[in-house]
Amino acid sequence: MTDPNKLYESYIRKGSYFNLMLNCGHKYNQWVQNALCYLPQDILDEHKEKLVFLTTADIDGCRVARHYCENREVILLSERILPKQHANEGQPDVRYFIYVVLHEVVHAIKKHKSPKFDNLTPIEKQAQEDEADRLALEWFNQHIEEIGNPNIKPLTKTDIEIEQEKQQVVREQLYTDILRDCSKCEFYYKEVEVESADL
Ligand SMILES: [Zn+2]
Repeated sequence: MTDPNKLYESYIRKGSYFNLMLNCGHKYNQWVQNALCYLPQDILDEHKEKLVFLTTADIDGCRVARHYCENREVILLSERILPKQHANEGQPDVRYFIYVVLHEVVHAIKKHKSPKFDNLTPIEKQAQEDEADRLALEWFNQHIEEIGNPNIKPLTKTDIEIEQEKQQVVREQLYTDILRDCSKCEFYYKEVEVESADL
């Protein structure tokens, strides 16, 4: 087993496990790291060099480097669900974000197949989703139990469904451009930091 101090060393430290695993931009890496701390330690330890997390939150597009594709399971996170400024782990949307990270980790470490390229039947696809849902919820609530804070309640399937419905609405709003109309944006270019990372 890896020394926990080393295993949980912050992504800020160059070369740490989280540092190599997280490429979600400076504003969001910490949140993905927080989510990964909900994983059972032995699972994180086993897969600490086999995963990478990406988002396009801080960039307009990216090409995923061959190194990642060949050596790690690549997990893409929608910027819609990333915790925003001043968020905290008690918020329903943040709990949902953590749940999504765990759900995707299950798909990765269980080597789930692609419905499209492996020609899965709807039943096979659903079986994979059910496994990811079940384990993610189990890990989440195990972590809550370990923390032992009576103010932090276990996550339920209903909590997840409520957040999924909200996200469905946000997705539609984004598509219909209700949420974003750049012609009305007021900002100075010099204040915008462009990260040209070749992931
Ligand atoms: Zn899934």
